[in-house]
Amino acid sequence: MIEPLLRITGLVAGYGRIEALHGVDLVVNASEVVCLIGRNGAGKSTLLKSVAGLVRPARGEILLDGEEITDWPVQRRARAGIATVPEGRHVFGPLSVHDNLLLGGHGQHGGMLAASLDDVYTRFPRLAERRHQAAGTLSGGEQQMLAIGRALMAGPRVILLDEPSLGLAPRIMAEVAEIVSALAGAETGVLVVEQNAEVAFRIARRGYLLERGVISASGPTRVLRDNARVRAAYLSKD
Ligand code: ATP
Repeated sequence: MIEPLLRITGLVAGYGRIEALHGVDLVVNASEVVCLIGRNGAGKSTLLKSVAGLVRPARGEILLDGEEITDWPVQRRARAGIATVPEGRHVFGPLSVHDNLLLGGHGQHGGMLAASLDDVYTRFPRLAERRHQAAGTLSGGEQQMLAIGRALMAGPRVILLDEPSLGLAPRIMAEVAEIVSALAGAETGVLVVEQNAEVAFRIARRGYLLERGVISASGPTRVLRDNARVRAAYLSKD
């Protein structure tokens, strides 16, 4: 049996005595974009942080390519190919676009580094045009592209994206959605957290609904879209 790229089983995690995830199972295969949707406080960021190694699970397992990484420190996971694009983007404002990308390519040299830069600039011509511009002066959408580009510099296997559409104008949101849906490759899978279900369904083929720390629905997004729980979660107000 071929192991999925990322497998999470029975994940229980939280902060001190607050348990935010109560036994989550989730799978991301290579070449797929998977969305995780849910309302404020459902535990979406906690799940991403657990995969990245920023939150230590109380129970459960996280496997990358069949290898258990549950207790690995952040840096080791990053080296193994887990890349995070955090909410709020966090580009280094005073540094140029180019230098921000170089920071993402740490550990690479020479030809490999040049090839990674080439790949990012080909994907994002807008970043190529602005390579000498200070990152802090980019538009919101461009900063999001830069944050994604920086994650790509490390040649990731699993890309974790936290709310990529947050705070973007609808037109830019559509552009970023298109970029994210094209990120998966033969050896790469994407897990994207979105509070905006419409955007999530546009980006991903498959998804999970997280409600109060429990996965309450999952499946192809074309089916999830009409799921009663999904509709209830998104039609009612917070
Ligand atoms: P949002 O969409 O608002 O970002 P989310 O689904 O990502 O929400 P989490 O941020 O994972 O939700 O939060 C899940 C629960 O854990 C919430 O009840 C939250 O208050 C709690 N929580 C999150 N971070 C911490 C923390 N550092 N310390 C204590 N509790 C936390």
